[in-house]
Amino acid sequence: MNQPAIADSLHPVTWPDGYKAAASFTFDVDAESCTIAHDPASTRRMSLMTHQSYGPKIAVPRLLKMLERQDIKATFFIPGFTAESYPDIVRRIVDGGHEVAHHGYLHEPMQGIDAATEASYMDRGLEALATVAGIRPVGYRAPWWELNWHSPGLLADRGFLYDSSLLDGDAPYRFAVAADDPRDIVEIPVDWTLDDWEQYAFYPGVTGSGVIESPAKVLEMWTLEAEAHHSQGSCFVLTNHPFISGRPSKAVALEQLIERVKGMDGMWVATMEQIALHTKATVNEVHTHARIDVPVFPGAGAQFEPAVVRQGVLA
Ligand code: ZN
Repeated sequence: MNQPAIADSLHPVTWPDGYKAAASFTFDVDAESCTIAHDPASTRRMSLMTHQSYGPKIAVPRLLKMLERQDIKATFFIPGFTAESYPDIVRRIVDGGHEVAHHGYLHEPMQGIDAATEASYMDRGLEALATVAGIRPVGYRAPWWELNWHSPGLLADRGFLYDSSLLDGDAPYRFAVAADDPRDIVEIPVDWTLDDWEQYAFYPGVTGSGVIESPAKVLEMWTLEAEAHHSQGSCFVLTNHPFISGRPSKAVALEQLIERVKGMDGMWVATMEQIALHTKATVNEVHTHARIDVPVFPGAGAQFEPAVVRQGVLA
C-alpha cells in the first residue's frame, strides 16, 4: 500500500510583507440553526431557543465592539437561515468591515448526503446572503466541518476561493477538487483544539462534554497554540460561536487572547479571505487528498489512492 504524502509538503506558504506567521479569528454565527438542524422539534423549547438567540442578540454586538477596540477584522461564517432571521446583525458585521462567508443554509448535517442535495443547501445559503446583505461570499465552512468528497467540486462550480473545513494541515494550501479535475481551491485548515465548542458548550440534552471550562484555562491553551503556530510560521485559526464565546467572561478572555496574538512579533492578523488570496497568489503546489475506499464484498482489501502534488497557476 502506498503511504500518504508527508505533512511537511503541505506547508509551502511564505507570508507577505515580512510577516512570520498568520492568525485569523473566525465566528460561526449558528444561532438557532444548528439545534433545529439536529431536531426540528427543538423550536418548541423556549429556553433552548434563547440560549441560541443570545448569539445574534447580545454576543455579536459585544464582539463587534471588542473587534473594533482591537482594530482587527474577522471572518463570520453565517448560515442563510441566521441571515434571514437577523438581517440587521449581518449588515452590522458587514458595516464593521468584516468578512461574511458561507456556512450552509440551516446548518444541515452533511454526512452521507448526495451532491444534488448538498448543492441545493449551498445555493439556498448563497441566495440568503445575497438577499439580506448583497453579499457573494468567497469562503465556505461546512456545518460541523463536514465535507464530502463531492463538496469541493460544488464549491468550485460556484466560484468559491477557499474552504475551511478540513483538518490536515497547520497552514493554508491549494487542493485539486478531484484528482482528474484541473480546478483547485484554497484550504485553510481547522482544528478541534481551537474551537470553543469543545471548551464551553453545554446544554442539557443537546450537546457538550458536561464541563464548562474556565476561560483562564482556555486562554492558556489557545495562547500555547498561537505561540506554537507563531514559532513554526504556520496559521492559527480560531473558531468561536457567539452564543458561547460572546458571554461575559469568555469574551473578556477572547479579547486578552487577541491582544497577546497581536503582540507576537511578525504575526499577520488577517481575515480568511486575505489569507486565501495570498495563498492563491503565491503557492503553486496543488495537492490532491489521499482517498481510501473499502470494497464491500468480495474484495482484495482497501483501495488507497495516494495524495499527489501538481503545479498550479498563480492567481
Ligand atoms: Zn456551525
